[in-house]
Amino acid sequence: MAELIDGKALAKEVRAEVKTRAEAFAAKHGRAPGLHVVLVGEDPASQVYVRNKQRAAGKAGIAGEVHRLPAETTEADLLALIAELNAAPGIDGILVQLPLPDHLDDQTIVDAIDPEKDVDGLHPFNAGLLFVGRHGLRPCTPSGCMRMLEHVGCNPKGKRALVLGRSTLVGKPIALMLLEKHATVTIAHSRTEDLAERVGEADIVVAAVGRAELVQGDWIKKGAVVIDVGINRLEDGSLTGDVDFGGASKHASYITPVPGGVGPMTIAMLLSNTVDAAEARTR
Ligand code: NAP
Repeated sequence: MAELIDGKALAKEVRAEVKTRAEAFAAKHGRAPGLHVVLVGEDPASQVYVRNKQRAAGKAGIAGEVHRLPAETTEADLLALIAELNAAPGIDGILVQLPLPDHLDDQTIVDAIDPEKDVDGLHPFNAGLLFVGRHGLRPCTPSGCMRMLEHVGCNPKGKRALVLGRSTLVGKPIALMLLEKHATVTIAHSRTEDLAERVGEADIVVAAVGRAELVQGDWIKKGAVVIDVGINRLEDGSLTGDVDFGGASKHASYITPVPGGVGPMTIAMLLSNTVDAAEARTR
């Protein structure tokens, strides 16, 4: 049976590290690292995410506020707020909660964030730094996945990794991070043929699709490490991942649960990025 990779416990460790660093930063600079979150509209899931991020930031010694804007906010008004946050010296991180309402283009707004304050790591400048293998702010979810692999002693070097999904948010950046660590990476997506075979070859499987239990348990190679990024809500209201957890647990060496796996790590890495940004800006 696979061992569980406990995202909650590991996230707690990361948040404790962040708190120590945030306190050291505050002692040196006379202010806490600052994270400002922008939430446009009333999307209930986004409201929950933002509340959780704000609470976690406060507990980790990170200051800041949430800017709640009405759903009908214009692009010009949103860009004006971002320009203000970019210019404020005490703000180290800016996060615009996505997705934005339909009349606003996510990428246009993300492009307006100062890359040095882009703690979500989604600005094309930071994506470019990751592409060329240089230091920069990296997307939180894939960074959290890498930290989980490290935690269980899974060194990607020479291993076959299968990333399911090719989004800018998760699939592409985690594929680059695994490649940087010398894995042999395959990226699968909705047009991939023989998906079961591709999964079956992998020593590391990262599933970031958004289809409940798409990855069947008996596809998993014996001893593989399985990181399930997917969050899918079932009709009964419960959450499940992209991997059949029960079936995959019989074959994998390590597996992340949903919930309690990658999710908590994403927030922890956001806080870590905020302190990274604060330190880099004041260096
Ligand atoms: P996304 O932008 O919708 O991308 C989904 C990817 O899955 C696409 O590349 C798509 O392929 C691929 N795909 C769809 N159906 C497929 C199929 N039947 N077989 C193979 N590939 C398929 O999603 P995302 O933003 O990357 O998020 C993925 C999942 O992770 C979602 O459940 C999301 O809620 C979750 N998530 C969790 C966290 C966390 O903190 N735990 C953070 C971010 C996202 P094409 O490119 O060909 O369309």
